[in-house]
Amino acid sequence: MRMLIMGPQGVGKGTQAALLAEHYGIPTISTGDIFRYNIKNKTELGLEAMSYTDKGELVPDELTNKIVKDRLAMDDVKNGWILDGYPRNASQVVALDAMLEDLGTPLDAVVALDANHDVLMHRMAKRAEEQGRTDDTPEVIAKRLETYAKETAPLLDTYASRGQLVAIDGEGDVDAIQANIVAALDAR
Ligand code: AMP
Repeated sequence: MRMLIMGPQGVGKGTQAALLAEHYGIPTISTGDIFRYNIKNKTELGLEAMSYTDKGELVPDELTNKIVKDRLAMDDVKNGWILDGYPRNASQVVALDAMLEDLGTPLDAVVALDANHDVLMHRMAKRAEEQGRTDDTPEVIAKRLETYAKETAPLLDTYASRGQLVAIDGEGDVDAIQANIVAALDAR
């Protein structure tokens, strides 16, 4: 199973991706986690990424596409993967299409979670308290949601037109949402 999990910040992508990874026995690849790891360890990639992540802007495609390409070439993703947080704009879709074409591993599905704005803001405020992420301040949260609406949300139409979109309501109980995702994927 090779899939994307998409949706605005705070919708629960990370939580659902982890449960799906366990269910299908495949790894999750989160570009946000990769950037955070590199920022924490002050690598060259981290130092460059930080100037964008701290503002809620997208890290340049060249850098982001390369980390995904390198990760998809690793052995542990041979039997499938879940990409969380990538692609995030139209040019990343083109880059991912090319990577998957080269690898001969087509995408199976795109899970899209959604929730209303107040639920998203509430969840992000809670996460800011729990995790202390530097990009969970009110200004940066607003900017990240704006970036999502402008650059990422239109990609859902792209995947819908390819017949790959599985749209799921992201509000409510975590386990019930997970069950809905698995049922929708299994029904395909
Ligand atoms: P996330 O944890 O997925 O919300 O990602 C945190 C931050 O990392 C984002 O606000 C971006 O600055 C950066 N980032 C993560 N994924 C991408 C991507 N696919 N393209 C560009 N920037 C990204």
